[in-house]
Amino acid sequence: MPNLPPPSSAATSADADLFARSLARVVQAAQHARIDPETLLRLSAPARTIEVSIPLRRDDGSLQVFRGYRVQYDDSRGPYKGGIRFHPRVDLAEVKSLALWMTLKCAVVDVPFGGGKGGIEVDPRQLSTAELERLSRGYVRALADVLGVDRDVPAPDVYTNARTMAWMADEYRVIARRLEPGMITGKPVGRGGSLGRDDATGRGGYYVLKEIEARRGWSPAQVRVAVQGFGNAGQHIAQLLHEDGYRVVAVSDSKGGILQPDGLDVPAVAAHKQAQHELPLPRGARRLGNADLLQLEVDVLVPAALEDQLTEHNAEQVAAKVVLELANGPTTGPADAILHRRGVLVVPDVLANAGGVTVSWFEWLQNRTGEPWSLAQVHERLRACMRTQFQAVHERATTQGVPMRMAAYGLALERLDRALGAGGTAADFARG
Ligand code: NAD
Repeated sequence: MPNLPPPSSAATSADADLFARSLARVVQAAQHARIDPETLLRLSAPARTIEVSIPLRRDDGSLQVFRGYRVQYDDSRGPYKGGIRFHPRVDLAEVKSLALWMTLKCAVVDVPFGGGKGGIEVDPRQLSTAELERLSRGYVRALADVLGVDRDVPAPDVYTNARTMAWMADEYRVIARRLEPGMITGKPVGRGGSLGRDDATGRGGYYVLKEIEARRGWSPAQVRVAVQGFGNAGQHIAQLLHEDGYRVVAVSDSKGGILQPDGLDVPAVAAHKQAQHELPLPRGARRLGNADLLQLEVDVLVPAALEDQLTEHNAEQVAAKVVLELANGPTTGPADAILHRRGVLVVPDVLANAGGVTVSWFEWLQNRTGEPWSLAQVHERLRACMRTQFQAVHERATTQGVPMRMAAYGLALERLDRALGAGGTAADFARG
């Protein structure tokens, strides 16, 4: 019996629900934004949705077919931009939601990109490195026509990394018969990657937290932090906060978490995770479940794994004062309302994790000009960008008396409105 992919999950109501829920929050935010109603109409569905089959010859000689997606949501502000996720739960509704969030995120941080996202429904831990390379190249073969430096520029996401990007850039080079490094970002340094892209998402979140620290008069040693997800985003922010004197008391990965009330030795934890592919249990620490981590008595909670982690079922139990969303979509709408009522500051994903796409933009610029930037330049521009946009969103939230997510979405919608409306004809009809 061949390895057939399971029936498409795209149409199930639970999946469709995620996208409907994502869109509902945009509609809600539009009430606090000065935009033409047509803008909302234009943003209510992606410009293009592509589902592809990717055949993979397994190392044992068998053939397996994987389902892949690319959603190109909106490119009115620039080429589509968004990561590629390898995960068994990837489906069309998730990719559509992620592409919508990318559209908003690029507008929030005012980088000249639109929004897109991609993924393959696969458990990468079941594949060898050689199989992963063939699958990554297969993804590019299936989608090469719609990718490109001025069309659609992917990047890493969950369970993809710089090496995946290098394979994909190379496959694109073979197909296009020319070098076009700017068609994908998050590449290894030396293969067109930017210095500072590896920790950019965590660092962007860290810069945001420094703004909150300044406003709240925090002293880092007094601030306890829990980080859910110890991958690219989670690990780097944990490291940066640890170096800065913050007390990172708990971290977790897909198998569970560890808690050390005095603060974890984050570099040691990261080194162990790197070598053994699992979290250690340092002396004095104890294991805890992922659900427990979300309810720890900490000051800052950093969800850095997947969507829908804070819901109406656990939002009342969140003890943190600040939730910094490094993951995309970790907080549901009802949870947002509960956290807002309880006075918990939620820094939304479209701002908190925008450091990644910001440095992707720097990488794209370097690829286009051929001029490499120093690490100091990358950090300085990233810090300036995160500070400016945090201030804009924070000020708007304060003035309007709305949660930061609503303020960030509102700001993004107004920027998208300017782009979408610039070539529009609605006003002519109104005059006539
Ligand atoms: P990654 O694959 O490097 O890491 C994901 C981590 O989450 C892993 O440690 C994994 O074990 C853990 N995890 C998975 N399921 C979990 C669960 N149920 N509970 C706790 N931990 C779990 O991925 P990443 O790139 O760090 O992405 C994490 C999140 O950050 C995603 O939502 C992604 O979209 C978002 N993000 C990433 C970037 C980036 O540049 N990599 C940029 C913006 C947003």
